[in-house]
Amino acid sequence: MQIISDPAKMSEWALQQIRKGQAIALVPTMGFFHEGHLALMRTAAEHGDKVVVSLFVNPLQFAPGEDLDAYPRDFERDRAMAEEERVDVLFAPVATDMYGSESRTRVSVGGLTEGLCGRSRPGHFDGVCTVVAKLFNLVMPQVAVFGSKDFQQLAVIRRMVRDLDWQIKIIDLPTVREKDGLAMSSRNSYLTREERVRALCLFKGIQMARDLAAAGVLDSRKILREIENHIASSGVDGIEYLEIVNSENLHPVSSIDESSLLAMAVKIGKTRLIDNAFLLQN
Ligand code: AMP
Repeated sequence: MQIISDPAKMSEWALQQIRKGQAIALVPTMGFFHEGHLALMRTAAEHGDKVVVSLFVNPLQFAPGEDLDAYPRDFERDRAMAEEERVDVLFAPVATDMYGSESRTRVSVGGLTEGLCGRSRPGHFDGVCTVVAKLFNLVMPQVAVFGSKDFQQLAVIRRMVRDLDWQIKIIDLPTVREKDGLAMSSRNSYLTREERVRALCLFKGIQMARDLAAAGVLDSRKILREIENHIASSGVDGIEYLEIVNSENLHPVSSIDESSLLAMAVKIGKTRLIDNAFLLQN
């Protein structure tokens, strides 16, 4: 596995591969790998001749006051974990190389970014789209792999790829969970032991909503009321949003069907956790 930090070298390498007829699969990440990231890398290896994993804690997607400085980082651990997978390049640029002082361009997707995380994190998706657009241009992948743990991000990136005519296939993977159901996340490392127990209320909420849906309760408000009661009584430190939306346009729905997604963002201590799930099986 090669480690490349210079963006120009990254695109040089990518061009060489493309000239040799190799298809590149890209996995964009912010590092501090867990099984979710590794699952994306394995899927990338099935879909591309060469696999590039980018590791970049993108300052543009953090608002002032968010956890940019505290975000967990351990390059040596990440390098060793990626080395165990079929990864050809770990692309780990520094922020000053990605965004020179002259950088003025931002990529912005309308509509889909207005609700859910977009409402509570203004500017977040512009940061995500801008860095993903840059990664697509530097790495020139045929395939890019994302997790549906960040469902809104996935929807926004699919929209961006269609709108900007990138011939890149976007593959999504289901959320990888801990044994007890907590969605794996680099941010789980912030949780104290006691907070880790409380964090289970997100997955319990999903289970409750699915049970209600399976029992024929299709009224979103009824489902949300039940889960909200459960989550609030689990001692969370704030519910940022708790919504049932249509998975295509992310608009709230009043009655659920197979396309309905429960999405939530909850504060446990100082840690912001998100999760989502479809409520009815297709
Ligand atoms: P991050 O490093 O958190 O920015 O995530 C990088 C990629 O991994 C994104 O496409 C995420 O959606 C995906 N990802 C994060 N957590 C999980 C998980 N638990 N299961 C599957 N994919 C995940």
